[in-house]
Amino acid sequence: MFKSLFVPERLFRLAMWIVSLVFASFLIGLGSTIIGDLPRIEQPLTLEQFADERPLERARAEIRRLRDLERDLGDRRAQAALHLTAVSNAYQSARSAYSNWIATRTATTDPGQDAEVLQRTRELDRLKASEREAQIALERIEKDLLDTRQMLAASERTERQLVEDARDAYESAVFRQEFRVFAWRLALTLPLLVVAWWFVMKKRRSEYWLLMRGFVIFALFTFFVELVPYLPSYGGYVRYAVGIAMTAVGGHYIIRAMRSYLARRRQVEQQNEAERRQALAPEEALKKMTVNVCPACQRALMTTGDVVPDYCVHCGLKLFDRCRSCDIRRNVFFPFCPKCGTAAAAAG
Ligand SMILES: [Zn+2]
Ligand SMILES: [Zn+2]
Repeated sequence: MFKSLFVPERLFRLAMWIVSLVFASFLIGLGSTIIGDLPRIEQPLTLEQFADERPLERARAEIRRLRDLERDLGDRRAQAALHLTAVSNAYQSARSAYSNWIATRTATTDPGQDAEVLQRTRELDRLKASEREAQIALERIEKDLLDTRQMLAASERTERQLVEDARDAYESAVFRQEFRVFAWRLALTLPLLVVAWWFVMKKRRSEYWLLMRGFVIFALFTFFVELVPYLPSYGGYVRYAVGIAMTAVGGHYIIRAMRSYLARRRQVEQQNEAERRQALAPEEALKKMTVNVCPACQRALMTTGDVVPDYCVHCGLKLFDRCRSCDIRRNVFFPFCPKCGTAAAAAG
């Protein structure tokens, strides 16, 4: 019913919010660009930077050498194993051929073949010897490989130990660096927060509040996005301490706001009906009445039947009276009579 009354005002408000947000987004863009250049001041740290350089370099060279050797020995072992299988197979087949032949020979017992027995036995011995040689060669390679692997493991342990020894120095350097980055960010953010705080506390009624509101949004964004994540954790102590401090400050202001609200309520309750009615802004009061809420005590309007009541049953605020000029029943918050147009002040 009264909505049309507020349309231009609402549009202005919307436009002001848009201006605030656009202003904030430009400030945020500028701020991020400035703050984005900060990490370049600091180089990222690595654990190895803090290790003893010479021994670490030596251990790594040794590891590289041993890995090459291991690979080489692995290849040679594969070759040797293959060779052993080949000679072993040759011996086995020669042996079984010989067994068959000797069985035939025993059956025929031909003495003319004795020379061939000797020759074949020698051949078998030769094959057996080369099988044994291949076996020994393989075993030697395997021994070398095992030695190499053990040396490699030892060198890797040395490397890990060297890196691990650097941890304390590294961690304290990281903490100092985090702290420096945070201090830089704080130095840039803190003035913004102070100015934003001052705007909120002192300038809320200013004509330029729409721009200041943009600045406040920017300061809050900067605080939560550019500063809070860079808080050095220091095992959680700093974060929890800041959290506790912020909650305490927030709680303090809520308590203060509640106290002053209650004080205002008490003050209002001590006024008489006419004083209370005159203290209310007509637009706000009409808005509340359209949703059936008393503009003064904020409780639901109650009546018998569906007639809109003349008075609030909770606090006695007058809601409807009669126009002095035409006697029509009218809302007390209408500035002019809806029937005859007499100004409300004259209608009293
Ligand atoms: Zn009331
Ligand atoms: Zn009238």
